[in-house]
Amino acid sequence: MKKKPFESMYWLLGDQLDLEHPWFSKVDGNRLFVIAELYQETAYCTQHVQKICAFFLSMENFAKGLRAKGHQVVHLTLDETIAFDNLEALIEAKIVEHSVTQFFYQRPDELRLLNQFRSLRLDGSVLVEEHDSDHFLFPFSEIEKDFAPGKSHRMESFYRRMRKRFGILMNGSEPIGGEWNFDKQNREKFSQSDISQIPNPLIFSNNIEDVLIRLKRNNVQFIGKIPDQLPWPVSRVQALELLEFFCAKCLPNFGRFQDAMATDHDLGWSLYHSRLSFALNSKMLSPLEVIKTALHAYETKKPLISIAQIEGFVRQVLGWREFIRALYWINMPAYKEKNYFKAERKLPGFFWTGETKMACMHRAIDDSLQYSYSHHIHRLMITGNFCLLTGVSPDEVDNWYLGIYIDGIEWAELPNTRGMSQYADGGMVASKPYSASGNYISKMSDYCKNCRYKAKEVTTEEACPFNSLYWRFLEANKEKLAKNPRNALVY
Ligand code: SF4
Repeated sequence: MKKKPFESMYWLLGDQLDLEHPWFSKVDGNRLFVIAELYQETAYCTQHVQKICAFFLSMENFAKGLRAKGHQVVHLTLDETIAFDNLEALIEAKIVEHSVTQFFYQRPDELRLLNQFRSLRLDGSVLVEEHDSDHFLFPFSEIEKDFAPGKSHRMESFYRRMRKRFGILMNGSEPIGGEWNFDKQNREKFSQSDISQIPNPLIFSNNIEDVLIRLKRNNVQFIGKIPDQLPWPVSRVQALELLEFFCAKCLPNFGRFQDAMATDHDLGWSLYHSRLSFALNSKMLSPLEVIKTALHAYETKKPLISIAQIEGFVRQVLGWREFIRALYWINMPAYKEKNYFKAERKLPGFFWTGETKMACMHRAIDDSLQYSYSHHIHRLMITGNFCLLTGVSPDEVDNWYLGIYIDGIEWAELPNTRGMSQYADGGMVASKPYSASGNYISKMSDYCKNCRYKAKEVTTEEACPFNSLYWRFLEANKEKLAKNPRNALVY
């Protein structure tokens, strides 16, 4: 008997893996869900092999999860999509193949993909609708009301409004603990005894053999270490496990050591960081459930988890994450061209190998190649700081960050890298450049102890390169920076 055709096609991207989305609230045999591995998503910049594998495996598991709920799903592997030039060509062909009269997609979080969906050339008889992903807490429709393109915005006032709006860590109209922000208590460094307490990270053992074969067969280029088994969560069950692990083992010290770095230790890459960004950015977890789970841990484990720890975490998810996503949308595509310092240098070759005698740079790059991850202070104050001080082109920096990190999706990467880390937007995100000499790195880590260079020396043969680079940067950009009150003292 001939199979009944579908009426509508629902297209899903690799970062739209939300099983709780309203699309899946009821099972309807007239709907066909399609999720596809795409060559274009492996090639828009050179990416880490673990990032590609994590997305492909998560997509496969997501398709299985939908089928288990009774939905009709087509999961297309790279072998099945490689013949199509791009996403549009694939969609157009699948619409014809399945003779659907309605096509729905969730608005992508990246302008590149949004433009592709909006440029579809479909037969006029096919109804096309764009739906919200319902993932973010700050509505897309309000971005234009609250944010102005090309202007400076500060996270703090936005964050306070979000706290009030969602009643998170609030006592009526006042913040719990009497302060909105406990950032000053988030800057401790590790002592030797602290280092011995760092928990072993929860890692997973996901088999990537089949994905690797597909990548090889289709000539996908990548960087980074191919692990025996992928340590990242690739299903909602694993993502929830990681969230529980974070709340139990890391949250009690999350804020305290948020800016700290540790070197001679296998756990230096994970420390007390949540490593939930991939599960969040792929939407396997929702930001509200992450916040609520952490709040529940705080409520039930006080005083083991203090207000400074939970507030620091809530600020990242409810404040910073939502804030930079809004800045991305209000400023694109112009934001991608920002280059305040007119930085033009190429990224040094050792960013792809980790082979440098600077101990801090070696550690930050090596972690990135090894795990497709490096914590935020490595990204901001080591590699980001180096690129800022040496005048590496923001395009080069963006490409490296976007490709190497497991959570590298443009809406998150661009304002964090080009804005926060490189100050290429001239202060739209950050109130001053995050530039630092070896002194800061020496204060917040134990890297300098085993480095070929000396953090306290400035002009000798053995001087830490960050020192002269720092002063050169300030001197070279005096006109642009001296008037900023936050730089006044140093000038
Ligand atoms: Fe990094 Fe300088 Fe310290 Fe070496 S001495 S680890 S280059 S900050």
